[in-house]
Amino acid sequence: MKFNKYNISSGIKRSLEEAGFKKPTDIQFKSIPQILSGQDILAIAQTGTGKTAAFAIPLISMLERSKPHLDKPTIKAVVMVPTRELAIQIEQVFLNLGKYTSIIPLAVIGGVEIEPQLKKLNKADVLIATPGRIMDLVFKGHLYLKQIDFLVLDEADRMLEQGFYNDIKKLITLLPKRRQTMFFSATINDTIKDLAYALVNKPVRIQL
Ligand code: AMP
Repeated sequence: MKFNKYNISSGIKRSLEEAGFKKPTDIQFKSIPQILSGQDILAIAQTGTGKTAAFAIPLISMLERSKPHLDKPTIKAVVMVPTRELAIQIEQVFLNLGKYTSIIPLAVIGGVEIEPQLKKLNKADVLIATPGRIMDLVFKGHLYLKQIDFLVLDEADRMLEQGFYNDIKKLITLLPKRRQTMFFSATINDTIKDLAYALVNKPVRIQL
């Protein structure tokens, strides 16, 4: 199995080649076709399995397809993460994999000046941030969630450990019903299961 077989943009194929990614990892093999076909995903996957590219590759591709039909650049995908470090790492993966595409990622994080980040928000397609930061952007009027098409929760178990349960629950009420959701967690328990099922719709379950 090669990446060439997927219906993804040629720009991504080029960056995958440059990155030296010769074939999909297990999680990528199981997720990419499902995500490309519009399915929700509920995946139990640890760090180091290639899970970031498992959602970044199809997301960039799908965003690139819809971008020419937009009147102006708009955040169409939101990636929720437990920490600012992970937000920056994921932004970097999107930058690398998307460098031959028109898709612009943006990690919005605390502890640095907000104004330059807000300026970039108007040009970005994918927002990557903690649930707390996303709430902050929404309540200050910088982000309108009803316009998004794609939602990713990465390391959901760690988000709960970081105390983001209430923020996520609140964000759920602000999301559009029609959207595609990709839920990733390294571990699973009853709380995570409840949260997952409040978010995903007839998901494909992926366990490595
Ligand atoms: P992650 O699980 O997303 O943190 O990724 C773990 C590591 O695997 C990262 O250093 C990626 O660059 C690398 N990686 C992801 N997908 C592939 C692939 N298909 N082939 C080789 N390396 C990969």
